[in-house]
Amino acid sequence: MEFEFHRGAVHLPSLGLWLDAHKPIGPAEAVFVSHAHSDHIAGHAEVFLTPATRDLMRARVSGERIEHVLEFGRRVDLSDAGFKVRRPAHLTLLPAGHVLGSAMSLVETDAGSLLYTGDFKLQAGRSAEVCEPRHADVLVMETTFGRPKYAFPPLSEVAAQVVTWCRATLAEGAVPLLLAYSLGKSQEILPSLTEAGFRVMLSQPTAKMTRIYARFGRDLGAWEEWDVERAAGAVVLAPPGAKLNALKAAVGGKVRTAVLTGWAIDSSCRYRYQADAAFPLSDHADFPDLLEFVKRVAPKRVFTLHGYATEFATKLREQGIEAWALGEENQLTLKL
Ligand SMILES: [Zn+2]
Repeated sequence: MEFEFHRGAVHLPSLGLWLDAHKPIGPAEAVFVSHAHSDHIAGHAEVFLTPATRDLMRARVSGERIEHVLEFGRRVDLSDAGFKVRRPAHLTLLPAGHVLGSAMSLVETDAGSLLYTGDFKLQAGRSAEVCEPRHADVLVMETTFGRPKYAFPPLSEVAAQVVTWCRATLAEGAVPLLLAYSLGKSQEILPSLTEAGFRVMLSQPTAKMTRIYARFGRDLGAWEEWDVERAAGAVVLAPPGAKLNALKAAVGGKVRTAVLTGWAIDSSCRYRYQADAAFPLSDHADFPDLLEFVKRVAPKRVFTLHGYATEFATKLREQGIEAWALGEENQLTLKL
């Protein structure tokens, strides 16, 4: 079976299926949406996704669409699903461990199998499902942190550092403001903050996402709605780039910021985010886990995508694994 890499996404023409297209795909074909981060969702006409990604996507993308909602591990025959496939194929969604509901897609045909990761994290976190790698002939994987220097400390260690920093900031009479994505990173740090006894205030977009986590049984502790008048003495969570002038004005400018991102491994990170501190809390696999993931999938061929895709593919080839980087620009037709 042929598949293409086109418009920055994997396309399976004989199945009429796209994997994570970031531009809207017309009504003729369907799209597997791996998770609800904004660079992975668009106004598609027909989608395959998990229940949590459906709810998170509905909260972020307006309009109607045909939704094929698949529980993790349920293997569906695409022709049974009333789907116009030109050859027999099965689709299974597996937990990716990146954010709530994030999925990898396993496509199995008589020509072989393909596992597409979307964004994933191997280390078990506190708010997303635990990643479940599975064998496939061809692996298409994200390699955001595909350089050896990106080796993250255990999540518990990073969370403890964040708690210590918040405590010290509050002791100085300032408001600790944690800059973290509204979906994923915020919910990952939230239980550590509530367990440490902090009063935690969430920005509006973060609160909106956190309510959906609660609907899916994720108890992340008690938190408060955004209200700058009550911010003094609280730990505040908001996405990077949020306009926080009102917060700063309400607390007399006494705000200290820390960004939570895997890029904190780079010493320039806190300058890039104009933050006072940076902690390497990531929802992606680090370099050792990217290698470990390939080992567990044991594919015949690997295609890498995002971040250090070329370097990581070279690394795999050095280890005797056939691997190629998929660039954002090129259009390729490949064989399964
Ligand atoms: Zn993502």
